[in-house]
Amino acid sequence: MRVAGKIAKAGYGTLVLEEDRVIGTPVQCAGLVSPRVVSMTGTKSIIGHYRSATLHPPNTEPLEIFSPEPKAYVLDRVAFDREMARSAMRCGAEIMLGCRVTGWDGEGSVRYVTEGEERETRCRVVVGADGPNSSVRHLSRIPAKAEHMPGLQAVVGKAPDGIHIFMGNKIAPGFFAWELPHPSGTVIGLATDGGNAYGYLVKLLKSMGVDRKVIALQAGTIPLGRMETSVADNLMLVGDAAYQVKPLSGGGLYTGLVSADHCGDVLVDALNRGDTSADSLSEYHTRWQKDVGSEISKGLWMRRVYRRFSDDELDRLFHALRDDKILEVIGREGDIDYPSALARAVLKTSPKLLKFAGPLIKNLF
Ligand SMILES: Cc1cc2nc3c(=O)[nH]c(=O)nc-3n(C[C@H](O)[C@H](O)[C@H](O)COP(=O)(O)OP(=O)(O)OC[C@H]3O[C@@H](n4cnc5c(N)ncnc54)[C@H](O)[C@@H]3O)c2cc1C
Repeated sequence: MRVAGKIAKAGYGTLVLEEDRVIGTPVQCAGLVSPRVVSMTGTKSIIGHYRSATLHPPNTEPLEIFSPEPKAYVLDRVAFDREMARSAMRCGAEIMLGCRVTGWDGEGSVRYVTEGEERETRCRVVVGADGPNSSVRHLSRIPAKAEHMPGLQAVVGKAPDGIHIFMGNKIAPGFFAWELPHPSGTVIGLATDGGNAYGYLVKLLKSMGVDRKVIALQAGTIPLGRMETSVADNLMLVGDAAYQVKPLSGGGLYTGLVSADHCGDVLVDALNRGDTSADSLSEYHTRWQKDVGSEISKGLWMRRVYRRFSDDELDRLFHALRDDKILEVIGREGDIDYPSALARAVLKTSPKLLKFAGPLIKNLF
């Protein structure tokens, strides 16, 4: 929607084909974002902003982190998507719902299915903003090195209680679980690369005593990886379709928005010049790589280190973090969009923590 708005605003005919019939549903997001997302979009779909978060290591006491100013916002993702769609339409984009893209001939023809019928539309450039299992990415045949991790969450009728992150191999192996405020109460979810995500979620809900308070279950995919390019002749990929996702948190709203702005700017220039070849569009890949791509690469490295931690090691790491100087640095420097900067700052404050970082070091500094 962000790219569509930019292209339409520049005066080019812009059509969004969306397979869902209702914008914003099904929800596949917890809505946790940094203040940057709020200022970039001017969104009004804010449930709350937070200056603290509680981290729960596997077997030791929770650790609460405080920051001097709000570092996290929780958005109502349904309302947010609708805001984005309204903004694109105000710029002149046309949105057609219930239209699933099924084919692209590499030039100007896009096929889609609506009401059970296959139809065709023609365009100069296709922008694949169609999520983790992007049809456009498959059609483009651009290779990717990636893993697709299931993410599941339950909306429960429980009063919101701030931001909580739960770690450990018994809770969500390879990733983590979360509890966040939600418009209908609280959302509790997890992502894992360790098998049965649903089984882990049921266990977590039971352990919290909320398994009978589930209002809705939401499931999605978190795509983590990299592509050598995100463009081809007359084609661009953006958002989850291009793996613009932070590997440590699974968050894709900030990285996707930053990249969408580059995508829109480069595409408008290319259309103005009348050259939509891969060469001409490749400036987009260069720009988003520079802005968020290198942090995503560092995140992939940090995730590799995180995945190797046993529960005991995680508990020991948390034990080492319980130090006023380190906690002050975490509160001050913590940044959910750029976690590598925090890792560097913490390691500088307490070099004894280097033993936990292992092979991460050479990629971090
Ligand atoms: C459980 C879970 C929790 C998450 N929580 C957070 C969070 O707290 N903060 C955060 O920043 N990120 C979070 N994310 C990630 C975030 O949801 C994504 O990064 C973000 O939604 C990506 O936006 P997108 O527009 O690229 O893709 P999507 O939001 O997936 O949108 C793609 C759209 O394309 C449509 N589509 C797909 N295929 C076709 C087709 N063939 N034809 C037409 N339309 C099609 C879909 O219907 C969809 O509307 C979470 C993800 C999961 C799974």
